[in-house]
Amino acid sequence: MKGVYKLAVVGVGKIARDQHLPAIAAQPGFELVACASRNASVEGVRNYQDIGALLAAEPSIDAVSLCAPPQVRYAQALAALDAGKHVMLEKPPGASVSEVEALHDIARSRDCTLFASWHSRAASAVVPARAWLASKDAGAIRSVEVRWKEDVRRWHPGQQWIWEPGGLGVFDPGINALSIVTRILPHEVALRAATLTMPSDTSTPIAAELDCVATNGAAVRAVFDWRHGPVEEWDIDVETDAGRLSMREGGKRLTIAGKAIDLGAEREYPALYEHFHALIETKTSDVDVRPLRLVADAFLTGRRVETEPFGR
Ligand code: NAP
Repeated sequence: MKGVYKLAVVGVGKIARDQHLPAIAAQPGFELVACASRNASVEGVRNYQDIGALLAAEPSIDAVSLCAPPQVRYAQALAALDAGKHVMLEKPPGASVSEVEALHDIARSRDCTLFASWHSRAASAVVPARAWLASKDAGAIRSVEVRWKEDVRRWHPGQQWIWEPGGLGVFDPGINALSIVTRILPHEVALRAATLTMPSDTSTPIAAELDCVATNGAAVRAVFDWRHGPVEEWDIDVETDAGRLSMREGGKRLTIAGKAIDLGAEREYPALYEHFHALIETKTSDVDVRPLRLVADAFLTGRRVETEPFGR
C-alpha cells in the first residue's frame, strides 16, 4: 500500500451497507469521507443528496464507488469522471454495453481509473479453478453447465428496479455466474441461442436459458431461475478430459476430479477494494464487458416466452 485515497460511496442501499462500507473500513488505502444517497446517510462522514452535490462540495475526494442500481450508473460515472475522479462500478457496470465502453474511453482521456468490478470473480474458488483449467492436468474442456437459481422474493424483496428496463431481471444474479465462466475458461464464449421467460407484468425475465459455445467447441449451457427455493443453487460444473471441476455456493467451494480443494476465507469485497487501490496506484483501468455482452446478446437474440404475472 502506498497512497491513501479519499473515497465517497454513492447509493447507500443493501450492497453498500452489507459489503462496501465494511470492506472500505478494513482497507487502509481508502478513507471514506462522504456518501451520496437520496434517502440514506452514513454515520461519521459528510452526506449529500446526490452525486452532483457531493462533487461540488468535495473537490478533494479522489475516488467514488457507485453502488446504486445499474440504470443510473452511467450518469453518475460520467459526472465523477468529468470531475477527474477514479471510479469503481458495482456490477453490472451499466445498463448497456455501449455505456460502459463510452465510460472506458472517457476514463482513458481523463487519466482516471475505471474499475468495472465483478465481485464473484473474487470468490475464493476462482483463482485455483482458472489455474487448473489452464493447466495441462485438466486436458481439453468438454462442456460447462451453470445452474444459478434462487428465490427472488428472498433475495430482492421490494426491489422494483430489477423488473424495469436495464434492471436485468434474473440476469442480475446470473451475470455473476457469467463473470466467473468468462474468467475461469481459457477460451472465449459466444452466445448461440437463449430463451427468456417473461412475466406478463415485468420488463425483465424471471428465468433464462443460454446456449453458448466456447471457442474450442465445448458447449456452455446456463440456466437461471428466480422461482427456486428455499435452498439456492449457485453451481458451475466444467467437464474436462481429467474429470469434473465443480464450484458450489457461488465460488465458495471447489472440487476438482473428486478432490475437495482447500480454499482460504471468503473475502470478495476486501479483494475488490485492494484491486481498485492497485489500479489507481498503477494508473490503469480494469473494464471487462464480456459478462454484460453475453446478457446483451441474450436480450438481442433470445426467444421470449410469456409466463404468469409476478404480482409486484
Ligand atoms: P438497492 O438497495 O435497491 O439500491 C441501492 C441504493 O441505490 C438504494 O438504496 C437507493 O438509495 C439508490 N437508488 C435506487 N434507485 C436509484 C435511482 N433511480 N437513482 C439514484 N439512486 C438510486 O440495491 P442493491 O441490492 O444495493 O444493489 C445495487 C447494485 O449492487 C446492483 O447493481 C446490484 O446488482 C449490485 N449488487 C447487489 C448485491 C445484493 O446482494 N443486493 C450483491 C452484489 C451486487 P437512495 O434511495 O438513498 O438514493
